[in-house]
Parts: sequence; structure tokens; C-alpha cells
Amino acid sequence: MLVNGAVITGKGAAVKGRTPEEIEQIRAILRGRFDDLSSEYEEAAAENHKLRLAEIGDAAGDDQADSGSKTAERDAATSLLRTLLDRRTQAELAMQRLDDGTYGNCEGCHNPIPVERLEVFPSATTCVNCKQVRERRAG
Ligand SMILES: [Zn+2]
Repeated sequence: MLVNGAVITGKGAAVKGRTPEEIEQIRAILRGRFDDLSSEYEEAAAENHKLRLAEIGDAAGDDQADSGSKTAERDAATSLLRTLLDRRTQAELAMQRLDDGTYGNCEGCHNPIPVERLEVFPSATTCVNCKQVRERRAG
């Protein structure tokens, strides 16, 4: 539950240059991403479940090499599920930050990150300019 006061102060002065239309556009992008990841996750989870059932079914007849490849298969499936869940959580957090008025602003120059960039990199925290400056400093 958000504290109402925080949301109100988050609007106004802090966010410069972002129109309500743009915010809606960004919300739609994030929502679409969240939904995509949800269905991908459900598919992967169902697949994973099937894999496990099959495994239980023929575990008795396994030789060593067979169970080794099954373990690898299961590890890959588990890490895919974790990745999907991670990315879904990021989309969810981004939507919360959008509500707070803290999503989509550059950490470097505090200007709004262009919608086109967020569309390609929803987890971007800097604009292209600041990213290049950072990379130049790092290198
Ligand atoms: Zn910037």
C-alpha cells in the first residue's frame, strides 16, 4: 500500500517534461511486458512440471548417463523460470516506480529518459548520453 502523501509529492516539481500521455504509453509498455513474461513463465512452469512427472514415471529404469542429462535439463528449466520471474518482478517494480514518479528519469542528468529508449530497455536507468559518459569514465 502506498502512502498517499508520498505519491502527491512525487508528482509536480520532481518530474519534468513527461506528459501524462507519455506516462500512459510507458505504463502500457510495462504492462505488456509484465503480461508477456507472465504467460512465458506459466508455459515454462507447465513444461517443467511435465518434465518432472515424466522423470518420476521412468526413474526406475534410468542408467547413470540418462539421469545426468535429465539433471542438466532440469537445471536449465529451473534457471529459465528464475530468469522469467526476475524480469517480471522488474517490470512490476518499474510500474510501481512509475506511480511514484521515479521511473524513467535518468540517474545522471535527472531528465526523463526518452520513451523510445524505455521501450527497448525498460530497465534503463540513464539516458543514452549519460550512459556513454559513464562508459567512457569506466573504460
Ligand atoms: Zn542523462
